[in-house]
Amino acid sequence: MALVGSHLLPLHRIYIHTLRWRDRPLQCPRCQSQDVDPWGTYHYRPGCKRYWCNGCRRTFNDLTDTLLHQSKRSLPYWILATFLLCLACSSRRIARELGVHPPFRMPWVIFMNI
Ligand SMILES: [Zn+2]
Repeated sequence: MALVGSHLLPLHRIYIHTLRWRDRPLQCPRCQSQDVDPWGTYHYRPGCKRYWCNGCRRTFNDLTDTLLHQSKRSLPYWILATFLLCLACSSRRIARELGVHPPFRMPWVIFMNI
């Protein structure tokens, strides 16, 4: 049985926000302007806050310009994969825990080599 489910990590968005911005003020990842305002959430990514940059007049979120930006896998998948990787689990075990299907193997291998 795979461990990943949307109910398992309800605070993952807050965790990512804290990890990215804890030691510096919230700023636009594109132009580094700190003149940003809240801009709602994404309907297809519940809990993912969106911000508006008054500098470059574009929106961004906590994952913009990161490896996870526009990933088709959910954030809990990547958090759990990283956690299992840190526990030195085998790639076969990680794939089994994540319920990874064969088409996912290639990006997974690339991720493991980063
Ligand atoms: Zn900007």
